[in-house]
Amino acid sequence: MKKLSLLFILLAAGAGSALAQPKVIAHRGYWKAPNSAQNSLASFFKADSIGVFASEIDVWLTADDRLIVNHDRVFKGTDINMERSTQRDICNIVLANGENIPTLDAYLKLVTTKPDTRLVLEMKSLSDLSREDLAAEKIVKALRKYGLVERTDIIAFSLNACLAFKKLLPDSKIYYLDGDLTPKKIKKLGLAGIDYSIEALRKHPEWVEQAHKLGLEVNVWTVDKEEDMRYFIDLGVDYITTNYPEQLQQLIGEK
Ligand code: MG
Repeated sequence: MKKLSLLFILLAAGAGSALAQPKVIAHRGYWKAPNSAQNSLASFFKADSIGVFASEIDVWLTADDRLIVNHDRVFKGTDINMERSTQRDICNIVLANGENIPTLDAYLKLVTTKPDTRLVLEMKSLSDLSREDLAAEKIVKALRKYGLVERTDIIAFSLNACLAFKKLLPDSKIYYLDGDLTPKKIKKLGLAGIDYSIEALRKHPEWVEQAHKLGLEVNVWTVDKEEDMRYFIDLGVDYITTNYPEQLQQLIGEK
C-alpha cells in the first residue's frame, strides 16, 4: 500500500510539472483593450483587470535626466526624441487614448495600487553607457521610493544596463533581451535568464532546456499568433510576452 501511494505521489508530481504553463506578460501593458494605449496608465490598469502575471513598460532617461514611459525613441508624427527632449515636452504628447505620456513616477504610483500584477520594466538602450548607468540608478531609486523593488523584474537589450542593475539590485531578476548570448553566458553574468524574440528562440529551441538546467528562466516576445503561442507553450518557456494577453490566457486554460 505504501509503495502504491508513493507511486501515486510521483505520478502526480510528474503530471504537475508537465502541466506547468507559462505566465502571461502584457507587452507595453494591455493596450489592445478599449480606451487604452501602449505604455499608458490605462494599459497597466487593464492588464491588472484581466489578471495577467505581469505588465511590461519601456523607460527612457530624458535630456533633463527624468524618467518617462514610452516605447519609440521618436514619437510617431513628431520630432520629439525621448533622449534629447525634456520631460515637459515629452509629457505634453497625447496618446491614442487621450492620456499624456506618463512619467515613471506617475506610473509607479499606479502600480502600487494594483498589488496583484508584477511590473516588467524595460530600460531602453541609451546613446552612451554613462547615461545608462545614471538611468539605472534613477530607476532603482524610484522603485525603492514606491516600495516596488520586489514586485519588479528588469529587462534590457543593453548588457551594460543589465550589469548596472545587477550591481544595484543583486537579488532582483534581470533578463537580457538581445538574443545573442547562450544560457551558459547569461548564467556566468549572474542574470536571471533570457528574454528573447520569437526568431532567436525558434533558431535555438535547445536554449530553453539549457537555461532550465542552469536554473535560469526563459521569456519570449512578442508572441501574438496562436501558432507561436502553442509552439512556446509546448517548448516549456516560463513566460510569454504578448499584445493579446486574453487570447493567451484562454489558450493556456486560465479562463
Ligand atoms: Mg519593451
